[in-house]
Amino acid sequence: MDLLHQFINGQWVPAKSGAQRSIQNPFDQKVIAHVTEGDREDAKAAIKSAQNAFYQGEWSKISATERGKMIYELGNLIEAHKEKLAELETLNTGKTYTESLWDMDDIAGIFRYYGGLADKQAGEVIASPNPNTQSRLEREPVGVVGMICPWNYPLLQAAWKIAPALAAGCTLVIKPSEITPLTTIEWTRLALQVGFPPGVINTVLGPGHSVGAELAENHSVDMISFTGGVLTGKKIMQAAAGNVKKVALELGGKNPHILFEDGDWQTAIDFILNGVFFHAGQICSAGTRLLVASGIHDQVVSLLEQRIRNIRLGNGMDEKTQMGPLISADQLQKVENHVQTAVQEGAKLLVGGERPEDPGLREGFFYAPTLLVGCEEDMRIVQEEVFGPVVHVEKFETEEEAIEKSNNTIYGLSGGFWSRDPERIDRVSKALRFGTVWVNDFNVYFTQAPWGGYKQSGLGRELGHTGLEEFQEIKHIYQNFNPQPINWFGK
Ligand code: NAD
Repeated sequence: MDLLHQFINGQWVPAKSGAQRSIQNPFDQKVIAHVTEGDREDAKAAIKSAQNAFYQGEWSKISATERGKMIYELGNLIEAHKEKLAELETLNTGKTYTESLWDMDDIAGIFRYYGGLADKQAGEVIASPNPNTQSRLEREPVGVVGMICPWNYPLLQAAWKIAPALAAGCTLVIKPSEITPLTTIEWTRLALQVGFPPGVINTVLGPGHSVGAELAENHSVDMISFTGGVLTGKKIMQAAAGNVKKVALELGGKNPHILFEDGDWQTAIDFILNGVFFHAGQICSAGTRLLVASGIHDQVVSLLEQRIRNIRLGNGMDEKTQMGPLISADQLQKVENHVQTAVQEGAKLLVGGERPEDPGLREGFFYAPTLLVGCEEDMRIVQEEVFGPVVHVEKFETEEEAIEKSNNTIYGLSGGFWSRDPERIDRVSKALRFGTVWVNDFNVYFTQAPWGGYKQSGLGRELGHTGLEEFQEIKHIYQNFNPQPINWFGK
């Protein structure tokens, strides 16, 4: 197995320290690659390279139209190589190959969308209060962007940052999660084919406490864009304060899924299952907090119980598999602890709550799809992000109670509800304090619509045209066509 390197200043290079890391398949713990393991020194070299490329290289002289073409072409290349990328994503994360293929289609679309958007923003003239003057706004690239990504959607989360940052004209240093770097490395190879000048794209491999921390702290980085857990997000915000760099954060969620009695809750069952067990619940917007009107509670729980028992676990590369393993032994342990605590706090376990017995799954980090009922607002399972295949149910009596319970969280990423009543739909969609609210649907996101969280779910918005604006500064240019003496300080 060849050692995979980092990409800094247009070159594939090993870590300065010579350190390496083995990358595992979470399905069977087999080693699937060896990668170089960078540290702060490598991150510094990458930042220097991005800084030179931004201030001294050809990149700033390339027109927005040309930049857009390169980004668009990269989208086409991703589509042409999607099978290989999808296989790597599945081997590295355990998610099903079908899902990985959808991710790659999505990613190709993201590059095409931002490629298209790159030259669509003209400077804007605004009203000036003074005669014989003109005020206009220009959008300029923020500069050098550090990007830190999670392991659950390795290349998709990276694409949400990379494509708009390049479209804006920034240069970048990207750090994938140390446990899932493979598709970001492969993507870097494709980007090379498009011909971005050296230093525009730098891919550094290594852990958060060294490479990630350097990106967040370094004063030559103008913006840090982070997706990951809320505790890490807070550390990044503190580290970024050193040079008051721009900060964009996509953090966790505790996302309510509400079933009102007047909604089509039979159809909703499918959406609940997808919202929780897709990618084994390792999705920031997973709808693991199910709130059900008391009149339909028992029927919903009974239907869910049957359906959850039938979920097929297995190798993500096997087309019969519906749910793969968790990403790591650590994550498995965290999920087990969450469920144990919930039961100690009074939740009733109806399905799962253990590692599956199937000997074919023993080597993988599998956890059985789990259903907990009888949960109350003050339990940890209700308040904390589990990031695993666990759904818990809370009962409610009134619309006000459902809204109050849903909003009673430190998070504000996404939520959804089912109803056929137009007035209720209007009231509840306005009352929920989340960045995305789904009505009679769940867990839908797409490139054109902004994505991000209220409260501790984050800062800023990715995707859509707001996703591009995150990587831009606005410059106000004020011109006086007929300057006259002021005479304040005499003549
Ligand atoms: P994490 O916070 O542990 O790690 C994310 C990244 O941060 C990794 O690359 C890691 O190496 C790096 N990191 C760790 N410590 C760091 C530090 N001190 N300084 C700088 N970088 C550091 O998160 P994770 O476990 O990889 O991902 C799961 C979390 O991500 C969940 O909470 C999930 O909700 C969240 N997430 C959010 C979104 C969203 O769109 N809001 C999308 C995906 C994942």
